[in-house]
Amino acid sequence: MRERVTGSRFPLLANPPPWPDGKRCAVAFTFDMDADSILHLAHHKNATNLVATMSMLQYGPRVAMPRILGLFRELGIRQTFFIPAWCIERYPEVVEAVLKDGHEIGHHGYIHEHPNELSKDREEYWLRRGIEVIERVTGKRPVGYRAPSYRFSRNSLDLLLAEGFRYDASLMGDEVPYLLSNGNGSLVELPSHYAMDDWAHYMVGRDLNYMMPIKAPSHAMDVFRAEFDAAWRHGALWISVWHPFLSGRLARFEAIAELAHHMMEKGDVWFAPLSEIAAHVERLVASGAWSPRIDHLPQYPAPIPELEASL
Ligand SMILES: [Zn+2]
Repeated sequence: MRERVTGSRFPLLANPPPWPDGKRCAVAFTFDMDADSILHLAHHKNATNLVATMSMLQYGPRVAMPRILGLFRELGIRQTFFIPAWCIERYPEVVEAVLKDGHEIGHHGYIHEHPNELSKDREEYWLRRGIEVIERVTGKRPVGYRAPSYRFSRNSLDLLLAEGFRYDASLMGDEVPYLLSNGNGSLVELPSHYAMDDWAHYMVGRDLNYMMPIKAPSHAMDVFRAEFDAAWRHGALWISVWHPFLSGRLARFEAIAELAHHMMEKGDVWFAPLSEIAAHVERLVASGAWSPRIDHLPQYPAPIPELEASL
C-alpha cells in the first residue's frame, strides 16, 4: 500500500522507469574522492605550503576511505567512486581496496581540471589521459563520467560518445534517468543536484575559497533523507554526491550509516553502482519497455541573440 503523503498524493513524476524486481526506487551513494587534486589545481606552485588544507584533503584517502568501504561491506552493497586519475596514481592502495570490494571507478578528470574552461582539444587530452590510467589500473575502460565540479562543457557529450562512455552523472535536469543526445548518438544521464552534494552542507576551506556555514550532520541528513523518502514514494533515482574528506568525518559518517539503515529498513530499494543503473536503462530503451526523456545538447547553438548589442 502506498504511504500517505502530505502534499504529494498525486504522481509528481510523469514517467518513472520500472526498476528491477519491482523495487520502489534506485539509490547510489557516490563518493568523489578528489583528495588533494583540487589543491594542486587551485594553487599549483604554492600547494605544498598549504599544509593544513592538504592534511584535510588527504584525510579522505587515508582515513575516510577504509571507513566508507567498511560500511559498504557491512551493508553488502557495491557503489561507484569517481576518482581523478591523478589520485588513482597517487593513492594506489585505496584504489586496490575499492576494486577488491567490487566497486566501480568512474572518470572524474585527470587532476580535477575544469572542462568548461578548456578548449575542446585540451578537454580531450585530459579525458584520454584519465581513460588510460583507469584502463591500466582497473583493466577496463571507464563507462561512466562525472565532470569535476559539474563543469560539463558544450563539447563534453561529443567527447564522451567518441570515447565509448555509456553514462554521465554530472547534470541536474531530472529526478529519473534521461538521455543526452547530440544528434549522432546518445548517452544515459544519471542526474543529481546540489542539495544532494555534501559540499553545500559542509565545505570550509579558506585556501579553496569555500566558507559554507557548517551544518550539524543531522540537519544535512534531513535534506538527504527527505530527498530519499520522496524518491521512494515517487519511484525516482536518488544519487548522493559525497566527498570522503567531508563526509567521512566521524559524526557525519555516523549519520550516513544511519540513513543507509533507514533505507534498508524501508525496503524495496535498489542499491547499485551507476554502471548497473545505466545498463538497466539501456536495456529498457532497447526492449521498448520504457522511453526516457531526451535532452539535446548543446542546449543553444550560440549565446542568445536577444542580448546582442543590447547591453
Ligand atoms: Zn570532484
